[in-house]
Amino acid sequence: MRSINDLFQRPAVRAALAAFHERRETILSQIIAIQQIPAPTFEEARRAAFIEERFQALGLADVSRDALNNVYGKLAGASPGRPPVVISAHLDTVFPIETNLAVRHDGRVVYGPGLGDNSTGVGGLLQVAEMIRERVLPHESDIYFVANVGEEGLGDLCGMRAVVDKFGGEATYIVVEGGLFGKLIHQAVGVRRYHIEVTAPGGHSWGGFGAASAIHVLGHLIVDIDGLSVPTIPKTTYNVGIIQGGTSINTIANSAHLWLDLRSEGPAALEQLVKSTEEILRLRSRKYVLEGHGVEIKMEQVGNRPAGGIDRQSPVVALADAALRAVGREDVDYIVSSTDANVPLSRGYQAVCLGLTHSGNSHRPDEFIDTTHLPAGLGQLMLVALAAAG
Ligand SMILES: [Zn+2]
Repeated sequence: MRSINDLFQRPAVRAALAAFHERRETILSQIIAIQQIPAPTFEEARRAAFIEERFQALGLADVSRDALNNVYGKLAGASPGRPPVVISAHLDTVFPIETNLAVRHDGRVVYGPGLGDNSTGVGGLLQVAEMIRERVLPHESDIYFVANVGEEGLGDLCGMRAVVDKFGGEATYIVVEGGLFGKLIHQAVGVRRYHIEVTAPGGHSWGGFGAASAIHVLGHLIVDIDGLSVPTIPKTTYNVGIIQGGTSINTIANSAHLWLDLRSEGPAALEQLVKSTEEILRLRSRKYVLEGHGVEIKMEQVGNRPAGGIDRQSPVVALADAALRAVGREDVDYIVSSTDANVPLSRGYQAVCLGLTHSGNSHRPDEFIDTTHLPAGLGQLMLVALAAAG
């Protein structure tokens, strides 16, 4: 591992940092080219093929695409066999395939769905790989560039799990999110998601009055869940985000379901919350069985993002902090969040998530990026990668 200061003193590195500023417009067009290819979670193939081509055109080694559509490319280091540095950015977006992806420019602000989250991150991989190669900036370890799938929605970090399984615990992971410039994440929020379905006999609201209703049972479940007490440290939360069910206003419902999202900064607190929720369901189920109402409650896990973290003093976090300051950012904002970095952080591996520029309205059609800090963000990413690769 090299110090950021050492790197910063080298003329070739300083020239590369300056070049990111000169190329702002070219970089922006590349980000837009990526954003123009639809890539909903589980439908990333077209965008993956584009990135694979770009990796090949840049002259990266061992360019490949796995069965999930994760795309890999490598810049070989001077000392083969050392643990690699892995820079990843997720390809997928929350926007369905038919979304209008038109962009609108307003000075340095550019609007377009998916621009910040995460075309900017994926574009960052290409820019940093190109710069290191073009300027022949030295590094001992291999640096892998990975555009991965499955970060958003119900992707459940499937792409990143495969990446971390491939590179293991000796690697250093740098996860890139387009819009988080100035922020660093080394603590991962754990998330569990459940689909809970209730079925009951139901019937006519008048003639069948007294029969069990799936909607009324669901209501009791929600009241029970809302009565859970959760700690504020570590921050722990629950949310019933969607409820659906019933047939008509004058029918006692025979089916209803909800989607539940549980989160915590602490793995133990999250486990406790999961246990308490399961207990609520068990007690309610038993009550209805004992009373002979013919009610059935089913709970299915539909998402599991593991919690975890590493110390702020860990080598890769300290490098990311120093790199941000080196490119002119005076204060570093440490946040706790749920990203692809959850996977390596939950296993205690060296990992940090960082951003490249400012963005807003993420996951909305009027999402935007402000490219003002983009050159500095790319500089930060390049410095961390080179320093971690020694
Ligand atoms: Zn993202």
